[in-house]
Amino acid sequence: MIAPPLVGRNAVITGGGRGIGAAVTRRLAEAGATVLACSRDASAASELIGQLNERGDRAFATACDVTSPDSVAAMAEYAGETLGHVDILVNNAGRAHSAPLHHQTLEEWNRLFAVNVTGTFLCTQAFAPAMAQQAWGRIVNIASIAARTGLRYVSAYAASKHAVLGFTRCIAAEMAENGVTANAICPGYVDTDMTTETVERIMSKTGLGREEALASILQTTPQRRLIDADEVAFVAAMLCEDGAHGINGQAIGIDGGEFLG
Ligand code: NDP
Repeated sequence: MIAPPLVGRNAVITGGGRGIGAAVTRRLAEAGATVLACSRDASAASELIGQLNERGDRAFATACDVTSPDSVAAMAEYAGETLGHVDILVNNAGRAHSAPLHHQTLEEWNRLFAVNVTGTFLCTQAFAPAMAQQAWGRIVNIASIAARTGLRYVSAYAASKHAVLGFTRCIAAEMAENGVTANAICPGYVDTDMTTETVERIMSKTGLGREEALASILQTTPQRRLIDADEVAFVAAMLCEDGAHGINGQAIGIDGGEFLG
């Protein structure tokens, strides 16, 4: 019998309690990894972690606000106690916001950058040096199609995700000789709370019904559908396998062919 590909690997997933993060946590556990799912409130991930442990996976949950250096340091310490070493980091925690430029507030701009960019930096800095030392590591950053193109009303979000992609490429270059890869996944609209909130914002701003509001965001998508969180998890898990060593510094689209640059 062939062992699952990530047996013996330990993974940390930020925002791992729900949405894309929960799908990645589940998929990595299914692939044999021991997983630590982080959410601002550890209880957000406890149900998922309970299910994984019940079926025999090794899974842990802890609290972490990725915008806080102290919280990231405490999470890294907990990861050391529970997992020993960390092989895989999935920087998934994220925040979205849309507004035309003239309504974009500095406070929301800073909040977005704190989660999407500073959070990715702090968590990567907490784990990547040890990955380099052990000569094996996988960093997977959940960016967005907005990391690769410009769209209306999402200047702060797109700027933050472009920053995540730039950071990813630099870390990929910096770690390339140390057995560590860093890649960005760039999904289109995914069927999670984040997209539900986007649809509800459109409904409240335009008076459109739910179906019409959803149709308006799907207009530019070739497949006319939302991406499933499991589709993102599938690619994240693939990037963590030994066989993906040569994939480094890439922006991998999961958007049904929407962005072809
Ligand atoms: P959700 O809004 O469903 O979930 C957001 C996740 O981020 C939650 O797990 C949340 O944790 C976590 N989070 C937010 N702020 C913090 C923080 N300060 N510290 C720690 N965790 C935090 O979003 P998705 O699952 O859809 O998105 C996940 C990632 O995918 C994000 O980076 C997003 O930008 C990206 N993405 C999403 C797309 C979409 O259409 N949904 C498309 C492209 C990319 P908590 O449980 O504590 O709230």
